[in-house]
Amino acid sequence: MKQFTTFPVFHGITDKTDGLFINRDERQEWFAQRYPGTPYFEVHQKHTATVLVIDGKVQPSEAYNTTADAIVSKQKNIIMAVKTADCVPVLLYDPAAQVGAVIHSGWKGILANIVQKTIQVMKQQGASAHHIQALLGPAINVCCYTVSAERIAAFREAGLPVHDNALCLAESVAMQLKEEGVDRIITPVTCTSCQSEQYFSFRREGPDHGTMISFVCL
Ligand SMILES: [Zn+2]
Repeated sequence: MKQFTTFPVFHGITDKTDGLFINRDERQEWFAQRYPGTPYFEVHQKHTATVLVIDGKVQPSEAYNTTADAIVSKQKNIIMAVKTADCVPVLLYDPAAQVGAVIHSGWKGILANIVQKTIQVMKQQGASAHHIQALLGPAINVCCYTVSAERIAAFREAGLPVHDNALCLAESVAMQLKEEGVDRIITPVTCTSCQSEQYFSFRREGPDHGTMISFVCL
């Protein structure tokens, strides 16, 4: 599990050495063993731009059955997590307002601008863009992400960066964060597909791939 000392809230990003995390029981158990008594929240990810707010009334089982691709919360001592294997996991935190968020954004989430939606919801919870800090986890990179001409055209039309017939998803997410006024962004250069000893990749491994978990805990 990776942690970044410059990101100002408790967080982590798992890799292949931590587990496959294919089913929810495995994920819950892993967190229950490491952080006893800390509820584990994830949502039913569907490449949407839907944001779920965890406000103390929402139970982990309800969140699990809610279709969404981002979680925003001010609640202390809960794990809020997203699963990825090529898509970009985005961790956000406003240390002044103490509002945190996690986002799962692949190409669909980027075109739907889930980053913008999540920051809007964080603002409703008291955050301000210039206080928000961001950490992007491992995602598929230009070297391994050739896509269709239609998808390239859609990214161009949205004003997002393209590299001939390939995309760097993290680059687009970083651009969207900057457009919202988030300037402090940690973006390690990764590629889930070619760094195969470290990361799971949907594109490389197909539908039976494992998953990385990225989480924040206030
Ligand atoms: Zn690559």
